[in-house]
Amino acid sequence: METLKLPRPLVNNILAQAQQSPENEICGLIGGRDGQAEHCYPIDNTAIDQARRYQMDPKEQIDAMRRMREQNESLVAIYHSHPHAPALPSATDLAEAEYADAAYLIVSLNTVGVLEMTAFCIKQQQAHELALELI
Ligand SMILES: [Zn+2]
Repeated sequence: METLKLPRPLVNNILAQAQQSPENEICGLIGGRDGQAEHCYPIDNTAIDQARRYQMDPKEQIDAMRRMREQNESLVAIYHSHPHAPALPSATDLAEAEYADAAYLIVSLNTVGVLEMTAFCIKQQQAHELALELI
């Protein structure tokens, strides 16, 4: 199983974003160098049904990619939260996964008291779970 290594401060940042939005999904990009995650770039969720899906604001997404390039980073992962569902890719997540080379990180608020976080790589609508290592 491939492993996605995430710095603890980055994980805490993303968990805080998810907790601050208990009803709606949050989303964003994670950039890094040599496949090593370094920074997250939160992006507005512009989906109509934000409780169950996410759609990244296209302008902010382009802006985040530009900021990544300026820091010599590339896209390592895409993250979003599931306020009411387990940390598994939804049918929509599988259908809309655009980046075969990036990891998909999902934070679930569904479990009482415990935040659940998983990572997948999604290719041709098939998800393969990645191991997560906090560094
Ligand atoms: Zn999802």
